Amino acid sequence: MALGDDLAKQGFVTTTVDAVVQWAQKNAMWPMPLGISCCGIEMMAFAGPRFDVSRFGSEVFRFSPRQCDLLIVAGTVTYKMSWVVRKIWDQMPEPKWCISMGVCASTGGMFRSYSVVQGIDLFIPVDAYVSGCPPRPEAVIKALMAIQEKAGNTKPILIDSRKPEDIKSDFGKIAAEG
Ligand code: SF4
Repeated sequence: MALGDDLAKQGFVTTTVDAVVQWAQKNAMWPMPLGISCCGIEMMAFAGPRFDVSRFGSEVFRFSPRQCDLLIVAGTVTYKMSWVVRKIWDQMPEPKWCISMGVCASTGGMFRSYSVVQGIDLFIPVDAYVSGCPPRPEAVIKALMAIQEKAGNTKPILIDSRKPEDIKSDFGKIAAEG
């Protein structure tokens, strides 16, 4: 039953904080666009009026990693650029998700070259891969919907209960692993 029906019938709804946070995260993902090469044009179409990603609450492209929770890597990633992509990913707050858009980002594509990373999952976690060269904007919308589904099933972290010294040692571990 829809929320509106519940309200009309009962006059009130009950829920939990977790459910509200999950609902908000799921329906208002803010993308951090990384249009590194030609796939970037399709990513712009995904955001534009024809495909209208605002229907999914994700029209707010922030261009600031600290305000984003969805990284879209659209294009060929060279080893030189991979450090920048990783840094942007690290600057995004948790919880966060990543779409690898197009064959170049997912596997290196046609670029079997010493300079091109053969898949961004070699250095960041990927939640959805979009196939194609270039992928259609509808395919990116499908990836977004799959991630929304995942976010809807992820228990939100409301309070980080770790002690400051534990957080510090986690960072130390990540730095040591390179
Ligand atoms: S997948 Fe195709 S369109 Fe996308 S960046 Fe690679 S070559 Fe360009």
